Amino acid sequence: MKLNESIRKALNDQVVKEFYSAYLYRSMSSDMKAAGYKGYAHWLMKQYEEEMEHGEKIIAYIEDRDGTVDFGQIDAVTSRFDCPLKVAEAALAHEQYVSESIRTIFRAAREEGDIETEVFLQWFITEQIEEESSSTDVKNGFEAAGDCKGLRFMFDAQLGNR
Ligand code: MG
Repeated sequence: MKLNESIRKALNDQVVKEFYSAYLYRSMSSDMKAAGYKGYAHWLMKQYEEEMEHGEKIIAYIEDRDGTVDFGQIDAVTSRFDCPLKVAEAALAHEQYVSESIRTIFRAAREEGDIETEVFLQWFITEQIEEESSSTDVKNGFEAAGDCKGLRFMFDAQLGNR
């Protein structure tokens, strides 16, 4: 069944948000590499790859529902970081924003009686629980390390195992 236009548009906007997320994590990875946090840079690269997959998943769904995808503008990343805790805080805030964005589409799908989109979005809702949880873990780790350079680098090494 063809997607309703308002749902197609909302999903399409989410595609752009997922690719922006990828772009954001890519830049954070680069910043952390420059600051000497190679483990966190690696963790953020994995996150970048996941966000690209999220975008692809939604594109495939729109296509499967006979919708067309508009490849709209992806915003520039304007924030620069040298502190890993600041990155972790910004990443968590971003994931909370993405979670709310997905909930909003889910509610709209429910209102439209679009059962297929509700089912499709369930995967993303579950994924966001994990994203927020892992981002919180990273934030807590750097918070606990505080100003101790040794502890920060130990935690960074741990993130490199992702
Ligand atoms: Mg995502």
